[in-house]
Amino acid sequence: MYDVNSKNAQDFIHHGEILETLQYAEENKDNLELISKLIEKARKQKGLTHREASVLLACTDEEKNQEIFKLAKEIKENFYGNRIVMFAPLYLSNYCINGCTYCPYHMKNKTIPRKQLSQEEIAKEVIALQDLGHKRLALEAGEDPVHNTMDYYLESIKTIYGIKHKNGAIRRVNINIAATTVDNYRLLKEAEVGTYILFQETYNKENYELLHPTGPKGNYDYHTEAMDRAMEGGIDDVGLGVLFGLEQYRYEFAGLLMHAEHLEAAFGVGPHTISVPRLKDADDIDASEFKNGIDDDTFAKIVACIRISVPYTGMIISTRESQSVRERVLKLGVSQLSGGSKTTVGGYNEETESEGDSSQFELSDTRTLDEVVQWLIQMDYIPSFCTACYGLGRTGDRFMSLLKSGQIQNCCHPNALMTLQEYLMDYASPTTKALGEKLISKEIANVPSENVRKTVAENLRLIREMNRRDFRF
Ligand code: SF4
Ligand code: SF4
Repeated sequence: MYDVNSKNAQDFIHHGEILETLQYAEENKDNLELISKLIEKARKQKGLTHREASVLLACTDEEKNQEIFKLAKEIKENFYGNRIVMFAPLYLSNYCINGCTYCPYHMKNKTIPRKQLSQEEIAKEVIALQDLGHKRLALEAGEDPVHNTMDYYLESIKTIYGIKHKNGAIRRVNINIAATTVDNYRLLKEAEVGTYILFQETYNKENYELLHPTGPKGNYDYHTEAMDRAMEGGIDDVGLGVLFGLEQYRYEFAGLLMHAEHLEAAFGVGPHTISVPRLKDADDIDASEFKNGIDDDTFAKIVACIRISVPYTGMIISTRESQSVRERVLKLGVSQLSGGSKTTVGGYNEETESEGDSSQFELSDTRTLDEVVQWLIQMDYIPSFCTACYGLGRTGDRFMSLLKSGQIQNCCHPNALMTLQEYLMDYASPTTKALGEKLISKEIANVPSENVRKTVAENLRLIREMNRRDFRF
């Protein structure tokens, strides 16, 4: 039976409940009275249930869909303003014993070069990432108990936090590794990992098992219950995601929101982030062989519906998507963006690069970080390298209560300006620097509190003139 509080995957992601939800959504997709009521409910910015949100996702009325997009934009602006948090993935190892049919790192792929970075190589990669201007990383690795051990991860995190090169520093390390035990999550927490990210890939158990024919990842329950164990291990920021294209998107959307509802019900804190990757071609993967691909319009509708359903959850988009798709969904709800990414093991530094192409998927946005930063500034977004919450212990429910009270806005905006100023001083091209300085002087007037405005102005001066770094609210 469906039970949002249960610790069993098949109760909180209940197949029957999803099917009923999809049927309810289909029956009501033209019910304009209900759709109007749901849009009004979403306007209160307290979110929607998976059933309610599924009706809006299924809605076919053009006028109502435009209202949904408009509301998504408003909620995005209310919660996240014009700030976009920047990050980069760092691939540690592509050794993997799983058989995921959609990923080129699957064990049977003999054509892809395999590589695991040593600690010396990680240090070189991190210096290269710091020289680009990154402050926030997402570590990526396949599942392999021989190569990719917990000790290896813990040592890698220590290496990364320990590198101080010029004015650079990685201030937040998030990690995307295979589902593991409560004890291991506790060790990751002690190593000061930020968000634990694990994509569900698909919430449909039957399909999940077909897509994962071999390896430990094939255990649907163990994988789906990973976030519960992570939270029990003390990691209170967790990142959800599905790989759109594996299953029908409406099924995944309902499952994703049910997962978020479960975490909120069971632990009092929902997911910190939701990622929205779409299946892409890769070494021995032909995305067109998967029958559930979604077009850009549907993708934009999904992003908008997630935004209005879970306003408190950050949304992440990677360089899998093109510049134009990224531009479109930034307006509708995405709050975090990767830039200048490499999805190869050792890809940021010539000395560490593997021989041959070891990338996990083809990039659509291949611009440098500076180009992405400049592009954002030209669209009036503030690229933010802020990691303040983590440094100040504002994670999990502490973070969520600050966010829900609206107080977080008094931190994010000034922090975005100060970290952008750091970036401009240390890494930006002359054109980006000039555009960024202009944006900062305009945006400083939008800091509501006079006291905070004065402090920010003084900190900006210290960054520019005294080479000081790492101010935060
Ligand atoms: Fe391995 Fe992850 Fe790729 Fe599956 S998706 S083959 S677990 S790296
Ligand atoms: Fe994120 Fe916290 Fe910085 Fe705001 S203040 S951008 S929530 S880390």
